[in-house]
Amino acid sequence: MPEGMIYKALSGYYFVEDDNGRTVQCRARGIFKKRGESPLVGDRVRFAETENGEGTVDAILPRSTELIRPPVANADLAVLAFSVIRPELNLQLLDKFLVHTEHAGLDALIVLTKMDAVAESEDADRIRRDVDAARELYTSIGYDTIVTSAKKEEGLDDLRDRLSRHISVFAGQSGVGKSSLVNALVPGLQLETSEISEKLGRGRHTTRHVELVKLAGGGYVADTPGFSQLDFAELGIEQIGDCFREFRELAPGCKFRGCTHLHEPGCAVKDALESGGIAKSRYQHYAGFMAEWKENRRRY
Ligand code: GDP
Ligand code: ZN
Repeated sequence: MPEGMIYKALSGYYFVEDDNGRTVQCRARGIFKKRGESPLVGDRVRFAETENGEGTVDAILPRSTELIRPPVANADLAVLAFSVIRPELNLQLLDKFLVHTEHAGLDALIVLTKMDAVAESEDADRIRRDVDAARELYTSIGYDTIVTSAKKEEGLDDLRDRLSRHISVFAGQSGVGKSSLVNALVPGLQLETSEISEKLGRGRHTTRHVELVKLAGGGYVADTPGFSQLDFAELGIEQIGDCFREFRELAPGCKFRGCTHLHEPGCAVKDALESGGIAKSRYQHYAGFMAEWKENRRRY
């Protein structure tokens, strides 16, 4: 039975691309509904062709990841978009996105946007220093960072390279330039940018179906950004530390198993903080997230 990947779901149809690049428009077999399952965009499936030129999805192969927003299976890379100006780089929010990315089991690529606009700023030198420092910090933790300008088409080749062979989902605050970047990456694609949706007087991403858009250099990008709700509700408190890569590596050296790295003696993370082995900003954000988690728990 042929296999393929669902790249689009629309009005009860699943558009499956087989391994030869051919598209077959499929219905899902009734059995999925009975089991309370449904195929997702990104799913690897087995399908059978029917006489009318369509097909049926017969089996969903095991998923490596599963996102709820956007509903995508097997995404393996989160592209975290942060503008360096308007709005300025916010490392606390970046660390929050990283927690959610790690929790979902995706690798992260940090893409800094709107670099062209820095030159106009009175603070250009300071912003450039902050950008360099942030790149150095996150590279040392193991995250790739790319500096881009969608407007001047800079950094796009590096970005295309990094996205090839992956199923990627963009994430980031509204207005940082996600749609502009995806539009610049995929010629012919016209995602609405903020300017356009403001002109039309409506919000974006309303009741749209998600589609994986194929990149010329290989790989797929979801046309709807993800991780819109960033609360820690579905995380256990002990998982937050695991979502900080450099803490996770150090944790086996802590005296107590299940060390929260906050008050315990013999904590390898706090030792590293004192000796400069981990960044102050990362630890502060971690401690803030732990407090936020407890505060949410107290309220509900
Ligand atoms: P999204 O909400 O993250 O999808 O952001 P948009 O792509 O809609 O962009 C938000 C605003 O930033 C728009 O006014 C864009 O024109 C502007 N913008 C996006 N990319 C760039 C860039 O590379 N340079 C500059 N100067 N502005 C940009
Ligand atoms: Zn510890």
